[in-house]
Amino acid sequence: MIVPDETATAVPRDLRSLNDAEVGEVLAGWGHKSYRTRQLLDWVYKKRVCTFDEMTDLSQELRAQLPEAFRLQSLECAREQVSSDGTVKFLWQLADGELIESVLIPASVGQDGKRSDRHTLCVSTQVGCAYGCKFCASGIMGYRRNLDVFEIVDQVLSVERWRRDHLVESGEYSEDTLPKGQTLVNNLVIMGMGEPLANYDNLTKALHILNAPWGMNIGARKITVSTSGLVPQIRMLAEEPQQYHLAISLHGATDEVRSQIMPINRKYPLEALLSACEAYQQAKGRMIWVEYILIDEINTGMDQ
Ligand code: SF4
Repeated sequence: MIVPDETATAVPRDLRSLNDAEVGEVLAGWGHKSYRTRQLLDWVYKKRVCTFDEMTDLSQELRAQLPEAFRLQSLECAREQVSSDGTVKFLWQLADGELIESVLIPASVGQDGKRSDRHTLCVSTQVGCAYGCKFCASGIMGYRRNLDVFEIVDQVLSVERWRRDHLVESGEYSEDTLPKGQTLVNNLVIMGMGEPLANYDNLTKALHILNAPWGMNIGARKITVSTSGLVPQIRMLAEEPQQYHLAISLHGATDEVRSQIMPINRKYPLEALLSACEAYQQAKGRMIWVEYILIDEINTGMDQ
């Protein structure tokens, strides 16, 4: 009998919170060959199954061991709302009853009358938000907690499963003829509920899993991280090897106006923010996006 060594955690962790090396370490501790790690991760990220029992090419011994160290806990879809332009808003219920949102946005129809296959998913990173921007529902709700790595990753996986279920329900495909490994979501914007850079460690680990070839394999250049302006974390993100896009929620071009609607500006005023943006641009050689909501009589003057 193979006895799990101490690399196996006492309390099972969600497998989608671990990278390939961490999963491989547990399997190696059980005496399994390294190719088993790749097989296991393929079931999770390419075939996107929800239970260990569905992983039919793993040995029965390994399938029996997996729940000792890992779990797979899918987000529960509390509501889905489809708009006439094809946008789908998902309300997810987490295990502790908290609610978060993701929004799937298909590409608009171009001038040639065609629609590209780009499907963007707007992803949440926290329940609520501590930063209190005056125009934002998450800010008004206040901060409740950070999302765990798997709760960020599973927003993408759950939308992929939703699409698979729809293809089968609509009769377009059967379970046997479903296109294997194809992904619907090919663009990510990290600008759902929460300030992404306030959950830095979980965010960057989740993005690594979503970007990695053994994970969801979404290109780093297809991932945009939006921030209200957390200067130290922008500088940290600039040091990461991946070429993520950066977007700044600006919404005010002077400290006076910006501080009025975005309290973060009192801690990191525009001069500090612009300096961090320059550092990011120098490190990545990429344009930075700026987001600006027009609020009548607040930030629409000529000085803005
Ligand atoms: S940082 Fe983002 S999520 Fe938080 S209150 Fe401001 S706009 Fe809303």
